[in-house]
Amino acid sequence: MSLSRLELDWLKQEAKDETELKNFIQRANVGEPIAKIIGHKGFWKGDFIVSEDVLDPRPDSETLIEAVLATFPNKNMPLRFLDLGTGSGCLIISLLQEYPNAHGVAIDVSQKALSIARQNAQDLPIDFIQADMRDLPKKLGKFDVVISNPPYIPHQDIETLDVAVKNYDPILALDGGEDGLDFYRALSQLTLTKNLFAEIGQGQEQSIIDIMQKQNWTYQKSWKDLGGITRVLYFKN
Ligand code: GLN
Repeated sequence: MSLSRLELDWLKQEAKDETELKNFIQRANVGEPIAKIIGHKGFWKGDFIVSEDVLDPRPDSETLIEAVLATFPNKNMPLRFLDLGTGSGCLIISLLQEYPNAHGVAIDVSQKALSIARQNAQDLPIDFIQADMRDLPKKLGKFDVVISNPPYIPHQDIETLDVAVKNYDPILALDGGEDGLDFYRALSQLTLTKNLFAEIGQGQEQSIIDIMQKQNWTYQKSWKDLGGITRVLYFKN
């Protein structure tokens, strides 16, 4: 692993002294992502605290923010959002920053992730609830929009991922079961909303559309990420 000039400058800026810088460089050299070393990462228009307990926010996931904004262009709408598998909270927090009258609920199975997300949310009107998204608490109410970037890597593929992902992102946020699609099967059972936006992995589009259509969701649209890969699907019910 060799550090780029830019990454090195970044670590220099963040380190409080030479000893810390040395430690940062050693960690980066064995593949730890810079965001995890310095403890924060830019996403959309904000900066988010990150740790080993949350998925490193990725530029690809900003596609989901673009998708919601394109579908609901009136930013004054008092939308009620639900985020399933919130992690650092970067998705729902970015949306609430765009829609000043919106509010929402964010769910994660990991208490440690929720503690990071709560810090990131500051005073935004988000209720954080610890739960498995495959077994949601009753009485959450209805939502205008549900968003999710669920774990979608097929179990066997985890070993083949970059060191930066497989060793530093939580396995809970990656492992989508045998075919990677377990969490979409759970999403297909949702009855809390008419509008669902989900991030997906490369090449999963058709299988996920099939899963959703079996439960009477209508596929509306897809959005590609900056790499040209279909990254977000929008379904209505
Ligand atoms: N986008 C992540 C990756 O490529 C996976 C995150 C997820 O499973 N939701 O490694």
